[in-house]
Amino acid sequence: YSGKKPGQELAEKLHRITINEVKSVPVVVPEQCTVYDAVVTMFIEDVGTMFVVREGGLLEGVISRKDLLKNTLGGQDIHKLPVGVIMTRMPNIIYVEPDTSVWEAARRLIAHEVDALPVVRLVKAKEGQTDLEVVGRFSKTNVTRLFVELGEGGY
Ligand code: ADP
Repeated sequence: YSGKKPGQELAEKLHRITINEVKSVPVVVPEQCTVYDAVVTMFIEDVGTMFVVREGGLLEGVISRKDLLKNTLGGQDIHKLPVGVIMTRMPNIIYVEPDTSVWEAARRLIAHEVDALPVVRLVKAKEGQTDLEVVGRFSKTNVTRLFVELGEGGY
């Protein structure tokens, strides 16, 4: 017996497990993608949140279920409206990096009241700027799956 309280052992596990170990494949669309096509993609890919990227998979924005729902009620032509107009845009995107702990990532989901976070790799760009290359997706489903695996004695 390690002498640690069970709660402390779980806490250490959650700090040790990284996003890289539990992340999902991201679903991405370009900024020119119409709201109509984004809805279709959301159903086909079975996700609630999609990431909007430019060439090279670089993060531009996030588009959620409610962003799409809201704009289908607005009376605009969803076959013409691009997601770039309605998405939540950089620099207002909450993200994680592959080596972020699952505890920190789940804390960000709760703190910012969002369902999913893009997993990004920081890429040096021109003029001292940093681009975010989308390499994964971390959602509340990932947290639930990890919860089940921890309950089964995994990790
Ligand atoms: P839903 O719209 O299905 O309730 P969310 O609660 O995740 O999904 O999204 C709420 C709002 O927050 C939406 O406008 C969405 O664009 C935005 N959003 C979602 N994920 C993020 C994120 N990682 N960073 C910043 N904003 C986000």
